[in-house]
Amino acid sequence: MIDIKSIREDFPILNRKVNGYPLVYLDNAATSQTPKQVIKAITDYYTNYNANIHRGVHTLSQEATEKYEEARQKLQRHFNAAHPYEIIFTSGTTHGINLVANGFAALLQPGDELLVSAMEHHSNIVPWQMLCEKTGAVLKVIPMNEKGELEMEVYEQLLSDKTRIVFCNHISNALGTINPIEKIIKMAHDAGAAVLIDGAQAAPHIKADLQALDVDFYTVSAHKMCGPTGVGMLYGKESWLRKMPPYQGGGEMIAEVTFEKTTYADLPHKFEAGTPDICGGIAFGAAVDYMNGIGFDAIAAYEHELLDYATGRLLKEIEGVKIYGTAENKTSVISFNIEGIHPYDIGAILDKLGVAVRTGHHCAQPIMDYYKIPGTVRASFAFYNTREEVDRFIEAVQKAQMMLA
Ligand code: PMP
Repeated sequence: MIDIKSIREDFPILNRKVNGYPLVYLDNAATSQTPKQVIKAITDYYTNYNANIHRGVHTLSQEATEKYEEARQKLQRHFNAAHPYEIIFTSGTTHGINLVANGFAALLQPGDELLVSAMEHHSNIVPWQMLCEKTGAVLKVIPMNEKGELEMEVYEQLLSDKTRIVFCNHISNALGTINPIEKIIKMAHDAGAAVLIDGAQAAPHIKADLQALDVDFYTVSAHKMCGPTGVGMLYGKESWLRKMPPYQGGGEMIAEVTFEKTTYADLPHKFEAGTPDICGGIAFGAAVDYMNGIGFDAIAAYEHELLDYATGRLLKEIEGVKIYGTAENKTSVISFNIEGIHPYDIGAILDKLGVAVRTGHHCAQPIMDYYKIPGTVRASFAFYNTREEVDRFIEAVQKAQMMLA
């Protein structure tokens, strides 16, 4: 059970006003809000033990190193990775995907095939296109249907002994679809291909068990799960991380450097060149603790109620509304348009009324092309939103419609 009153007290930002109205924050799929507990971890770091990690003999450096490595272990436990060194700290999902795409450049031959789902964020398309340009590998697309579900029969046909890697999001940021990743991973493995799952949108809603999934790579961003921006995690199976060359060269990632030859540090440091976002990593660990304190089952059940309530009211009360992404299995994202009105105009009026939503293509232009639309209005709910906020959202959409129709 969610104790919504006490949860909302954890998020100071929810008390602020926007344009004279109490804020209704429904842009959680872009970035979630930050609880006091995470803000405290950030303040604590800069107040008490700000220092560079791994190299220092002095106390502050040792404390910072300990906390940073503790955060790695929290992520390992949360996602059930076999080893802490399979958790690579990144600057976010985009960084994680680029790191893997770069690693695969050394492992591909011209004519090898990569499969991408039709509902990816640009960050899970563009790095692979760059990789194909570099290697002569070929990118093929797993199509989706009108409801925003992947066409699994076509996926099966696309898989072949040429397929090297499949990449797909766990949950679509633009549609909310929860993809059947267990099946996707199993089918890819049966064909001898690796799988990267972009978990950016899943991590705030679902506690993924990476060993049970048997996934090869999984990426998340802390800022979508109550943590700070600019930090994230790439999980990679040890065997793949050992096979792939480092992404960036620099300090921290070496064993020994001479002008003749450099040898690389062991995992995970081989992929962590330079001074990382130490405070961010520690705060990421605090965010994972915070979310586990509430519990992912409770979060999913509560958000689902909000989703059903908001979807029901929108469909019943807003004339000419069309929701994109009507998959059976979806999370708390509603992407919609109202006939005859540009999504941007709705978003602008909602903001005037204190309601924060996102409008546009949501970095998933191929999805917008599929539906032949310029973009959508996207309302995305988190466990700290309320039914009253859904009411405010619906009223604001009604007002926008009256003003714009
Ligand atoms: N993938 C998905 C599904 C996303 O929703 C996002 C963020 N909108 C990203 C990747 C990129 O995440 P980041 O900007 O944190 O790297």
